[in-house]
Amino acid sequence: MNGTSFIGFTRGSETSDTFTAFDPTTGNAVEPLFHSATLDELETTARLADAARIPYGDLPGKTRAKFLRSIADNIEALGDTLIERATLETSLPNARFIGERARTCGQLRMFADLLDEGSWVEARIDHAIPDRQPLPKPDVRSMYRPLGPVAVFCASNFPLAYSVAGGDTASALAAGCPVIAIAHTAHPGTAELVGSAVAKAVADHNMPEGTFSLIFSKGYELGQALVAHRAIKAVGFTGSRRGGRALMDIAARRDDPIPVYAEMSSVNPTFLLPNAIAKRGDALAAGLHASVTGGVGQFCTKPGLVFLPSKADSGSFLSDLRSHISNTGAAPLLTEGIRKSYETASEGRRPEVEDFTENTAADLTGFAVRPSIFETSAATFLEKPELNDEIFGPTTLLINADSKEELLEIARGLEGQLTASIHGDEEDLVEYADLIAILETKAGRLIFNGFSTGVEVCPSMVHGGPYPATSDSRSTAVGSRAITRFARLVCFQNFPDAALPDELKEANPLGIWRMIDSEFVR
Ligand code: NAP
Repeated sequence: MNGTSFIGFTRGSETSDTFTAFDPTTGNAVEPLFHSATLDELETTARLADAARIPYGDLPGKTRAKFLRSIADNIEALGDTLIERATLETSLPNARFIGERARTCGQLRMFADLLDEGSWVEARIDHAIPDRQPLPKPDVRSMYRPLGPVAVFCASNFPLAYSVAGGDTASALAAGCPVIAIAHTAHPGTAELVGSAVAKAVADHNMPEGTFSLIFSKGYELGQALVAHRAIKAVGFTGSRRGGRALMDIAARRDDPIPVYAEMSSVNPTFLLPNAIAKRGDALAAGLHASVTGGVGQFCTKPGLVFLPSKADSGSFLSDLRSHISNTGAAPLLTEGIRKSYETASEGRRPEVEDFTENTAADLTGFAVRPSIFETSAATFLEKPELNDEIFGPTTLLINADSKEELLEIARGLEGQLTASIHGDEEDLVEYADLIAILETKAGRLIFNGFSTGVEVCPSMVHGGPYPATSDSRSTAVGSRAITRFARLVCFQNFPDAALPDELKEANPLGIWRMIDSEFVR
């Protein structure tokens, strides 16, 4: 590990602008030093990415598929070194990273399979009708083509699956876009290891030099400069609403505004309907506790608002959940900044609600915090819009509602969400059909009788939602549909066959599904 950026095929300089990772269990700095890139080095990465744009984007899908598989193989070849470094920088357990590595490599291979199959480009062909009256019809063909270089901001809470070679990078590289990743300051060593795995694949597959770069950066200057850079054509981001919004605004102010796919803030409203509470309150209390405290509550899909019937109708659910929380020890958050935000937001919420439970005996060392639950009534919740705010970490807000009308009013006022969950039975689904109709307008994924944490990586997954859950509700950050975020439709009119991309050639040499004269055929 040498702590310098990857500027195409070369490494950046050892600048004096340095930072380290921290061990969240102690709060102590962890070696080595990482060196922020210079603005000149950033300029070089952008120039190289721009130069790679056409040669990399024009490679056959099957060639890019081999490259993606090779990145996955190289990440696996890092073995325990990667797992141990990720654990050191985050204090999350090894088992978590064994799973996250499998997800990361699985994602890369899922996109490789998509490229091998090839139909993701949505090729459409409308044949010419030269003798059509009153005007001849031209030959019109279209498909998805790569958007150009993408800036990817690594996520603090997914050091592997949403960082250097995570979902944004995998989908951008799959689409044919060069990537410049910005390492998260919380886990730079993990970033460097994964960066070396990607760089090796670039070299082994003779990819153009600018296909991949990785920037280390303390502070926001380099990231903002990259988003504003003419060579960059799209941005992938996972993090805070403030950070995502800042990058969206920079992108929108450019002379040529570009799309920013930011996944930001979601409180994942969870509705425990009367029949569910009555029939399986104890299992729901255990399930909710696991969902709120898993990964120390640092998942974008953590249930942050939980709606229940009145206290009288909630049976032993509340006492069960309070007891689970009172018996849960403190655990470290990822960074000192995230710890401070958790404590400040929790302090602010306590006087606003009726009840609060935490394990007061739990020891606080390093970046540790105590898991907690807040409780309030629907009437109070409706009066205090700030109770909708996300608190990132192991806490949730329980809201007792006396009537269905209160729930509907609350649902209408919710911001955009990644998920909304409903626990109930068939009878509840009929009784609360209007609630579900409202939730569909608010969230990217509706879940029945399950908790929102745990996002399956599969072609049909939607991990998106209206603002502020994401910056563009038409997209998903997880699953193979994520590829179209980094592609745009291009139409070829009256081109001779030999000059068309293979996907649009008359003989269909790639054997992909296409829509020809309005019918899907292979
Ligand atoms: P963050 O502060 O938004 O940072 C994410 C990345 O963007 C980091 O690389 C950061 O740089 C950079 N960045 C942030 N603001 C920027 C700006 N104005 N201009 C340019 N770059 C900027 O998120 P975080 O560090 O992961 O965690 C902080 C908070 O984000 C959490 O407390 C939580 O509320 C929220 N969060 C939400 C999710 C979610 O999925 N909903 C996930 C993670 C975090 P540095 O590395 O230099 O800080």
